[in-house]
Amino acid sequence: MRSVIETDALIIGAGPAGLWQAFQLGLQGIRAHIVDALPEAGGQCIELYGDKPIYDIPALPVASGRELVERLLAQLRPMQPAFHFGRLVSQLARRDDERFDVTLDDGMRFVARFVFVAAGVGAFVPRRLMLDEARAFEGRGLLYRAGDLSSLPGERFAVLGDGPEAVDAVVSLARREQASIALVHRRDSFKAEAASVARLRELVAAGRVQLVIGQPVGFDAATDDAARLAALRWLDAEGKVHALAVDRVIALLGISPKLGPIAEWGLALERKQVVVDTASFESNVPGLYAIGDINHYPGKRKLILCGFHEATLAAFAAAQRLRPDERIATLYTTTSDVLQQRLGVGRA
Ligand code: FAD
Repeated sequence: MRSVIETDALIIGAGPAGLWQAFQLGLQGIRAHIVDALPEAGGQCIELYGDKPIYDIPALPVASGRELVERLLAQLRPMQPAFHFGRLVSQLARRDDERFDVTLDDGMRFVARFVFVAAGVGAFVPRRLMLDEARAFEGRGLLYRAGDLSSLPGERFAVLGDGPEAVDAVVSLARREQASIALVHRRDSFKAEAASVARLRELVAAGRVQLVIGQPVGFDAATDDAARLAALRWLDAEGKVHALAVDRVIALLGISPKLGPIAEWGLALERKQVVVDTASFESNVPGLYAIGDINHYPGKRKLILCGFHEATLAAFAAAQRLRPDERIATLYTTTSDVLQQRLGVGRA
């Protein structure tokens, strides 16, 4: 059985609000664990507009979504949070000792004194194929994340999709000498970087990659093993069904946000957002805070700047609860030895 991680602070979501939450908790001397369904930090800033400019972060006249996240991560480094990427927080329950049992979709478990829900518009999870037959192969013959393609078992691969991830996966698989690779999409057009699409075209012209213009309609199992994928069935523009022999199908169809389990945690919600007290950003469940796009209060604006403010006050509130006999003062990073020590910039 896996061990349980005990922590003072667990943050759900590594978007800008969750990252700033970890920084502010660090200033209060509280180290955090951060869980995100995505394989990297950044939330909407990375998933929805990584290369687009943001102009309304104070003192940062312009930064792309990716650059903002890189800067937040750099600023956060001294606080040494523990990141757990590619995992969904699926269950949360308050214990008799007022801490929280938190379970992830891979079975990992935490006991947390405080939980900070920074879940934005929900967990970003990969879009699944809407085919009943797909379920039997999910996680084995059918994958929804590219992962490390150099060591993926199998020799015959079909990649589904038209975005950067799908095109890059094909280009990367083509480096495996023995691999036979097909890219399946309903149109002969791709939404990836020009250089990646050009490389894809070269591979197709050289016969290294088969371009299949059609739609997946089903899966065939191997005749001797019902659990093993043998072929992907696809429909062409004339309505004819074909079979493509494959060991692995990698469906990279984009991601969509899902509020999912948060709706079942007994939190007071308004229009699917967690209602909070604006003095502390605590929800109706003591010890559970909600910050960033996931919360609701009068006057709420879904802006990164607002999430930063909310996380700051939530960190003060949690520190006060953790150390009830102490007066949690407002200290300045400019002048406080304690804060500078926590930032790793203190005098030697
Ligand atoms: P998110 O960024 O949504 O991050 C939440 C994270 O939580 C996600 O990574 C998600 O995978 C994870 N998560 C959720 N549930 C779970 C779970 N159960 N388990 C594990 N992980 C989970 N704001 C500005 O201030 N200025 C701008 O210029 C600006 N431009 C924008 C442009 C676009 C196109 C969009 C879509 C938004 C823009 N915004 C802008 C809004 C801004 O991006 C959001 O306010 C901000 O990202 C909210 O941050 P967050 O950390 O609350 O949530």
